[in-house]
Amino acid sequence: MELFVDKVRITVCGGRGGDGAVAFHREKYVASGGPDGGDGGHGGSVILHVNDNLSTLLDFRYKRKYAAQAGAGGQGRNMSGKRGENLIIQVPRGTVVRDAETNQIIVDMSTGEDHVIAKGGRGGWGNNHFATPTRQVPRFAKAGLPGQERDIVLELKLLADVGLVGFPNVGKSTLLSVTSNARPKIANYHFTTLFPNLGVIYVDEGVSFVMADIPGIIEGAAEGAGLGHDFLRHIDRCRLLVHVVDVSGSEGRDPVEDFDAICAELSNYSVDLSNRPMIVAANKCDLLMPESDNLERLRKHVEEAGCQLYEISAGTTQGTKNLMRVVAEKLRTLPPVTVYEPEYVEVIEEAGTPEELQIEHLGSTWVITGKWLERLILNINFDDYESRNYFDQQLRKCGLFKRLEDMGIQDGDVVDIYDIEFEYQR
Ligand code: GDP
Ligand code: MG
Repeated sequence: MELFVDKVRITVCGGRGGDGAVAFHREKYVASGGPDGGDGGHGGSVILHVNDNLSTLLDFRYKRKYAAQAGAGGQGRNMSGKRGENLIIQVPRGTVVRDAETNQIIVDMSTGEDHVIAKGGRGGWGNNHFATPTRQVPRFAKAGLPGQERDIVLELKLLADVGLVGFPNVGKSTLLSVTSNARPKIANYHFTTLFPNLGVIYVDEGVSFVMADIPGIIEGAAEGAGLGHDFLRHIDRCRLLVHVVDVSGSEGRDPVEDFDAICAELSNYSVDLSNRPMIVAANKCDLLMPESDNLERLRKHVEEAGCQLYEISAGTTQGTKNLMRVVAEKLRTLPPVTVYEPEYVEVIEEAGTPEELQIEHLGSTWVITGKWLERLILNINFDDYESRNYFDQQLRKCGLFKRLEDMGIQDGDVVDIYDIEFEYQR
């Protein structure tokens, strides 16, 4: 049996930045050349990309860790290390990505835009950056920074306008197959549908919509009994539900009870889903016995609940075209498919205390390192004024400059923080 996987937890990790090199220029007859150690390359990032040919998250079941390539180290002769390759992860459209710890939505991969999920670390500077008139022979270079590492949960929530709901065997798959291009499995036993199926329904020129057939909901599904529960998430985004009920009583079931049971499942799953607009399709009308009052009882019940009922037979296609027209009409009045807004805000590292910083004093250069500083730098875009400003504020806030003054820093000395170097001015 093929497996359908629609929720996985994985670890993504940006590549480490390459280390800067310590090297010195050597030439015949030249006693000692200047520093020419090149920079390390930046680490590659992990990037999420929508692939419309994918319909499950199955591939992620067997591989849980995704790391982009590290940047190469710098070399002598001012040669920079090669940048690490980005790692592209392909996901089906409609994959919602959450932070595994907080469960907050990071991104909804519905629009087709790529998303950088784990940034690569910056490459370290080689010693060629550290030559100043007062420090002719710099023997130090910078190590590359680690890439961002995070645990995320991928959850597939299909993008469909219409979701078919109903007990197993009522004819949901049959309805999808006779109205759309989809060819779901149809069989006369329960739980035939293990995969959600999507079909495009063309009603008229320029009028079409997407309908999803999800595995049958059974009673107790919302509490996790049976199959249904996991699959309800696929109709979370649907704009409209078509509730298929078998009115023939062919399986000895009562259509009114079935209708109520499914509605109860929906509201157990979420209030939001139970308030979704719904149209009822009374199916298998071809099997209806003349003496049966099933159809009339269901119609009355459904109308009291504020829904419209349409008689169909998916088996003979009687009434199915009309139903699809009604659905298309209704959709015109409803808001578009939900795309989730990100809930996760990148936590920009707040200033730590100056005691957490290591300060090396090398001639007129002050080299600052520290764990939180590394993380802070990872989130600063130095091409952006606001971002640089924020960085500056954090340095002031943590008391770094005060401490440097106490240690005897002079105007014009060089302050060196990872890739960033600036002259100190009081
Ligand atoms: P699902 O579990 O809701 O997807 O149900 P299926 O579409 O797989 O149908 C279950 C069984 O009911 C199959 O044997 C279908 O051929 C049959 N069936 C579906 N719709 C009709 C109908 O309108 N009339 C009759 N006679 N049989 C139907
Ligand atoms: Mg089915």
